[in-house]
Amino acid sequence: RVAYVNGRYQPHAVAAVHIEDRGMQFSDGIYEVVAVVDGHPIDLSGHIARLDRSLTEMRIARPMPSRSLRLVMRELVRRNRLSNGIVYIQVNRGVYRRDHPFPPAHVAPSLVMTVRSGVGPSRTAIENGVPVITMPDRRWARRDIKSVSLLPNVLAKEAAHEAGAWEAWQVDRDGYITEGASTNAWIVSRDGALVTRPLNDDILAGITRQSLLALARADGMTVEERPFTVEEAKAAREAFTSSTTLSALPVVRIDDAVVANGVPGSLTRRLRELYAAHIAGAGRE
Ligand code: PMP
Repeated sequence: RVAYVNGRYQPHAVAAVHIEDRGMQFSDGIYEVVAVVDGHPIDLSGHIARLDRSLTEMRIARPMPSRSLRLVMRELVRRNRLSNGIVYIQVNRGVYRRDHPFPPAHVAPSLVMTVRSGVGPSRTAIENGVPVITMPDRRWARRDIKSVSLLPNVLAKEAAHEAGAWEAWQVDRDGYITEGASTNAWIVSRDGALVTRPLNDDILAGITRQSLLALARADGMTVEERPFTVEEAKAAREAFTSSTTLSALPVVRIDDAVVANGVPGSLTRRLRELYAAHIAGAGRE
């Protein structure tokens, strides 16, 4: 396996950033995960636009122009002969002696890219659906930024796993679900509408969320971008959770409540089909 680190392609086993990198000191960095299907990155423009936005919001300099970023990504996929998996991209503010304020302007950001093959949910998870738990959302107030500061997300995911669940849906102070620790949360309401939380700084603007919304609207589904409570989710017709590596993953239990009759719903299955067609066609770049 080969990784890209600051201008060099290196064996994955020895690839490293410096111990004084601000990613290490302060988790002062941002990241992206792009799915690769049959060697093609999926929804690449969306991921690059979000990366750019995260950099702007964090005031981290662009490590290179988007065009070059795309080239490096393609080269890394080629060198690794990656056909199905992910590219992970991380940009940190750079290497400098530890001090909280930004380093001087001459300090260049660090850019790391790695690949992994064969990520994604198991057949069983897709066919049977998965359980999720809910818990208070204790993350920071800028969840729209794809920051590598993921400690609360790590703790949430671990709590989910320890509870035998797949994901931990986060709940705001008013009892509304924000999103999962690494996924966006969705339900199909009692009226049959597809519901997901609207975009603001409470949640990450999932690229899969964006694609699923477009596919649903094009397919004539009723879509409502509005917050929904834990109670509404537990009583919903269907539920699922979405991300780059999952597509729409059916959720069949929320805490102790079985969703609908405990099997993946028809609208969720339809969305999975639409998304599969998307990644086999228009989603490829
Ligand atoms: N929310 C959070 C907190 C995430 O970490 C992720 C995945 N990185 C998502 C949502 C889903 O985003 P995407 O569809 O772009 O993978």
